[in-house]
Amino acid sequence: MYTKLLYRKDGRPNANKDLILPKVTCRWRLIVLKAAVFYGVEDVRVCEVEKPKAGRGEVVVEIKSAAICGTDLHYYRGDAIPGKLPIILGHEFSGVVVEVGEGVKNVSKGDRVVGPPSISCGECYYCREGREQLCLNRVGLGVHIDGCLAEYVKIPRADRTLCKLPDDISFEEGCLIGDVMLTGFHAAEKVSPGDVVAVFGTGPIGFSSMLFAKVKGAGKVICVGRRDVALNFAREKLGVDAAVNVKRENVVEKIKDLTDGLGVDVAIDAAGARFTLKSAIDCLKRGGKLVVPALFVEPPSLDMIKVTMNELEIYGVLCPANVNKIQQVIEILRSKKLDVGSFITHRLSLDEAPRGFEILDRRIDNPVKVVVKP
Ligand SMILES: [Zn+2]
Ligand SMILES: [Zn+2]
Repeated sequence: MYTKLLYRKDGRPNANKDLILPKVTCRWRLIVLKAAVFYGVEDVRVCEVEKPKAGRGEVVVEIKSAAICGTDLHYYRGDAIPGKLPIILGHEFSGVVVEVGEGVKNVSKGDRVVGPPSISCGECYYCREGREQLCLNRVGLGVHIDGCLAEYVKIPRADRTLCKLPDDISFEEGCLIGDVMLTGFHAAEKVSPGDVVAVFGTGPIGFSSMLFAKVKGAGKVICVGRRDVALNFAREKLGVDAAVNVKRENVVEKIKDLTDGLGVDVAIDAAGARFTLKSAIDCLKRGGKLVVPALFVEPPSLDMIKVTMNELEIYGVLCPANVNKIQQVIEILRSKKLDVGSFITHRLSLDEAPRGFEILDRRIDNPVKVVVKP
């Protein structure tokens, strides 16, 4: 899925990263407001597309809210290429089932639903192990098949992909469950009650990791970032115990100060930069856990001597494409009354979707989550 290639204006892969990245001006071709289609670097157009039909095992969902993800932004910037072009981007959604294909049992017309970013086969070694995110036949929404930044999306293998959204969770909050909340939940599964946790990165995954680290009973959660507005948000809305601004403070020293010189039990790198990875390793307690939900654009270097000498444990974290886990997250959101909606900083219509990418790309008005409502 993550081919380390850029691609040229004609859409073909560009094997030489030194070649100049093509700049394609974003064009708005408003025919009918149907879908945000990705054509190439910085080129998302709102187009009219054919409405999908539900085949065997499939359903069609009318999208109520869809969020633009960091993964979509990677495509927009040319850091990676999706599996097909052009493609409707997006994999974070909530909506209502409007058409049910033959053989679908668990989902009915009219159901409010959410789902994970990828569709698993249910039959391979990993699916049988319950680790659907590692499925050998994984299909990414908005990566291999058309995604949800559209009025309608077709969901294959609906029975094992979709989860019902209770009435007391809004569609807006719902679109953040399948990926943002689920990934943070999964990252925080490595946290034990009483642990001191440092989370690097103040994007949606960083924030949701902080939220679920608290839910898991972390003794202390430290937020590390470079923007005061985001650090304040983490303090006020997510209840983190301390916030470190890397622009003003030496993060490793500060974290050692906050932990009696020992370091943290768990460091979660939700930023995915050389600096954050190095700092995360350096601020860990001996025997500590490094948890990495971030996707690095460039392969970082890792001090393996430190990893061995300190017996550090390293965990990669992908969004679990598992309906039972989505159900667990929904139950937590309801019982703890977590304010997921506070992650949403921008609300746009579908015809403004290209603007949504610009907002995230250029960080206009400190975006956390940009939600598109068809
Ligand atoms: Zn996502
Ligand atoms: Zn599978």
